[in-house]
Amino acid sequence: MSHVKLINLTKRFDKVEVLKNINLDIKEGEIVSLLGPSGCGKSTTLKIIAGILEPDGGNILFDEKSVNSIPTGKRDASIVFQEYLLFPHMNVFENIEFGLKMKKVNKKDRKIKVEELIDLVKLSGFENKYPSELSGGQQQRVAIARTLAINPKVLLLDEPFSNLDINLRNEMREFVLNLQKKLKITTILVTHDKEEALMMSDKIAVMLNGEIKQFDTPKNLYEKPKTKCVANIFGERN
Ligand code: ADP
Ligand code: MG
Repeated sequence: MSHVKLINLTKRFDKVEVLKNINLDIKEGEIVSLLGPSGCGKSTTLKIIAGILEPDGGNILFDEKSVNSIPTGKRDASIVFQEYLLFPHMNVFENIEFGLKMKKVNKKDRKIKVEELIDLVKLSGFENKYPSELSGGQQQRVAIARTLAINPKVLLLDEPFSNLDINLRNEMREFVLNLQKKLKITTILVTHDKEEALMMSDKIAVMLNGEIKQFDTPKNLYEKPKTKCVANIFGERN
């Protein structure tokens, strides 16, 4: 079944058409990448799915139902940004707990949930540390745990690895991939890195200038590119 569907999404900033006619159909439990160069409209698409931005035209469906008029907090989608924006004055536990407090979950249930998440992102023993005492990868795992705390059905990741050094980046890619497989949570990953998209994704949407040129499996993008530009991106195995 289709979990997230975008139908003819359009978006302008001033007079610039940033998204031209975006169509996507993402199935339950899939991990899909939006792959394209800087400025092609990846983050804008993700923000529209999250409800942070409104499209000018088109529809966003979750489970075949329109969510266009549902505000961010009430949509079952949660976003992790490149700069993971932890609260510096809160420790790991409190950072993860924050969203649950906002949702008025009681203290006992918050503790159970936060401990489960700390275990999930492998940060046991770090509960009382502050963000400044953590490595980049650890901070990012806190950011992911914090996002997962509110049980989103759709996980949106906007270039989550690009601020990490190369070793940590590989480690975090594997970590997120394993977590995604374990939770079977529908995930949309924004990246400008072809290798990352290939390694992480069930399917890749190749974006250029506000359009999706092809939405397909990594195998088909290699073997059956539909346009020259897709062939150019995937033609070279390097
Ligand atoms: P990407 O994430 O692929 O790098 P974005 O979706 O962030 O691209 O941006 C797409 C285009 O829209 C870019 O040309 C960018 O400058 C422009 N843009 C993004 N956000 C805004 C904004 N809030 N106001 C005006 N222009 C914007
Ligand atoms: Mg972006």
